[in-house]
Amino acid sequence: MSFTSYPPSQHAVVARGVEKSFGHLPVLRGIDLTVEYGNVCCILGPSGSGKSTFLRCMNHLERIEKGLLQVGGETVGYREHHGKLYEMKKSEVARQRADIGMVFQGFNLFPHMTVLENIIEAPMHVKKVRKAQATSDAMNLLAKVGLTAKANAYPRTLSGGQQQRVAIARALAMKPKLMLFDEPTSALDPELVGEVLSVMRSLASEGMTMIVVTHELGFAREVSDKVVFMDNGIVVEQGSPHEFFNNTQNERAKAFLGKVL
Ligand code: ADP
Ligand code: MG
Repeated sequence: MSFTSYPPSQHAVVARGVEKSFGHLPVLRGIDLTVEYGNVCCILGPSGSGKSTFLRCMNHLERIEKGLLQVGGETVGYREHHGKLYEMKKSEVARQRADIGMVFQGFNLFPHMTVLENIIEAPMHVKKVRKAQATSDAMNLLAKVGLTAKANAYPRTLSGGQQQRVAIARALAMKPKLMLFDEPTSALDPELVGEVLSVMRSLASEGMTMIVVTHELGFAREVSDKVVFMDNGIVVEQGSPHEFFNNTQNERAKAFLGKVL
């Protein structure tokens, strides 16, 4: 492994030359990306281009092998001291992860817990928030995602759209500084996509920093500050939604838009 050291940044996320392989398969081949606080960055790209792997690296679910990755000005994946690289302490990884919310394609709720129990679990056990406080915070979040009435329901009794809204509330319960969404609506029936996107839209309007991997081009066009197109492990194009959707010169991006639209 080799890393380069850079000064700490004031950006929400900085990636410079991020590389990662699975065995002999290079999956991230030098990702460069900056995301500002309060911005929404949508990542588009064909299946297998490394989008999920890149998000997973930010959240310590995978580790980068080369380059620099910083979240909230802190280096993710290793710790540097006097020019030497060290494994990060488990406690440090846990602290960094607590600041990052992630929502996956599958809803990943704990099936044996009610909606409310799902939401208060991490604040109580990771952040040691008392039950009464965690419960009142959770009820506020359920109101925000429009599911107050489902607090005591079990996940299996909810629609996919409702489960995904609970998953968003659960991630928000940790008061994250960054929210990562990995194709949050791809597993939903088409009629349920809108309610999830609408929760994400309101989160964006409140200034949450969000990185969203999605095929929902309407959402990307309307909500993002920056659109990024990944192909084959690199960012091949990035810009404002207007630049990307109206003026992309990149052939692969054009072909992708042609297929999806
Ligand atoms: P995307 O999200 O853009 O579809 P992924 O990041 O999921 O792409 O995957 C990129 C490539 O890495 C694919 O070829 C995939 O098969 C491979 N890959 C992803 N995760 C693993 C893993 N844990 N082990 C081996 N290969 C993987
Ligand atoms: Mg993926």
